[in-house]
Amino acid sequence: MIVTKFGGTSVADASAVGRLIGVVRSRLRDRPVVVVSALAGVTDALLGLQEIVHRGQADALDAALTAVVERHAEVARALPGAASAMPAIAGAATTLREELSAAFGRLLRPAELDMLAGRGELWSSRLVAAALAGAGLDATWVDIRPIMVTDDRFGRAAPCTPILTARARECLRPLTEAGRVPVTQGFIGATADGLPTTLGRGGSDFTASLLGAALEADRVEIWTDVNGLMTADPRVVPSARTLRAASYEEAAELATFGARVLHPATAQPLVRAGIPIVVLNSSRPDDPGTRIEPSAELERLGDSPVRSISWKRGITVVNVRAPRMLGAYGFLRAMFEVFERHEVVVDVLASSEVSVSLTVEDRTRLDVVVRDLGELGEVWIEDHRAIVAVVGIGIRSTPGLAARLFGAVQPANVEVISQGASAINMTFVVREEDGPGVVRRLHQEFFGSC
Ligand code: ADP
Ligand code: ASP
Ligand code: MG
Repeated sequence: MIVTKFGGTSVADASAVGRLIGVVRSRLRDRPVVVVSALAGVTDALLGLQEIVHRGQADALDAALTAVVERHAEVARALPGAASAMPAIAGAATTLREELSAAFGRLLRPAELDMLAGRGELWSSRLVAAALAGAGLDATWVDIRPIMVTDDRFGRAAPCTPILTARARECLRPLTEAGRVPVTQGFIGATADGLPTTLGRGGSDFTASLLGAALEADRVEIWTDVNGLMTADPRVVPSARTLRAASYEEAAELATFGARVLHPATAQPLVRAGIPIVVLNSSRPDDPGTRIEPSAELERLGDSPVRSISWKRGITVVNVRAPRMLGAYGFLRAMFEVFERHEVVVDVLASSEVSVSLTVEDRTRLDVVVRDLGELGEVWIEDHRAIVAVVGIGIRSTPGLAARLFGAVQPANVEVISQGASAINMTFVVREEDGPGVVRRLHQEFFGSC
């Protein structure tokens, strides 16, 4: 069997859902499990409601919810059979309106935000299941929440793999084995007590790979709006080329450093079983896309050392200078304990004899981190930075790469540079406004176009 995941743009409107039906039909022999994201823009629209709720604006809430329901209704009207999903969607929107009205005048709690954000996937999956059934496929809607059991870290919940594996096998396998097509939600889960959670933004890719691992799938297909993993984000570098193959490691590094096309954790559940991920364009289903699989097979390709360049904006650099750290044991450990205590993830680290620079993306707990780090030395932060990452399995074994890289980055100023422990990436920090220009110049240097 296979897992086929369709992202927001691949279910955005009736023609996208029409193409999805074609893809699923062409995969029937592979016994697909279909995972869908919310219709493009719906998760953002739902999260946008928190502001309206905070202000207690009943009319604005009605208008926004009506617009979201209408997005689904428009698709439903255009596809035979899909209208059967609308009573459930409209009913759930009414319930949501009541739940949100009860919270007027206050900020929503993290658990409530997850309940809200996850509605988009529940609705899109109803719509897609009905559209597939209307097209004559034996599709059946499956609620992922009792299967995708997670911890209660709302907004970035972690799955409980043993329960997930057992329940996915118990609930989904009999369906695929009977020739039915389960249609379920990406992104969402629930705690063991049944409270709704989400796996973090862009998390539907992760859902697909978790199910792929649990069900020992032959492959996991990620259907999106580009031809695959590319040498750079085509929105930044229009001439970016599609990679035909990439390793799990490369995909993970690129995703961590900003290549939105895959959630950073996507490859992780599949590594042990060596299950391939194929990234495909739902508007061009015949394009071969990118195949992501174990690195051993790739090293034989002998490509250019760099495979792709990614960047991520909204980065803050935290610098700690402590003359005492010179020759002192335990300084780094004490520093990392601060980040660990406040659950703040560090992306890039560079250190000299008396100072350490680290980058963080999530600023929510930064003030307490800075306060606690202040006990170790002088701390200062720099905002509006971007991380640029040059990734490729060949970086390990190519001398002189740093010189080419610095030549290309000029005249932008590089502030922190680091080579990942895996030695397949070089990352550095630049001012946010320099990010796109730096990516284009690096693309010119390593791929001959920008
Ligand atoms: P989906 O809704 O299908 O999950 P996303 O918007 O999450 O799609 O991801 C696809 C987008 O990722 C592309 O439209 C592209 O702009 C962006 N992207 C960023 N870096 C890359 C890259 N290296 N290769 C391909 N796409 C990339
Ligand atoms: N709909 C969710 C988001 O926008 C999950 C996803 O698309 O993967 O983040
Ligand atoms: Mg995505």
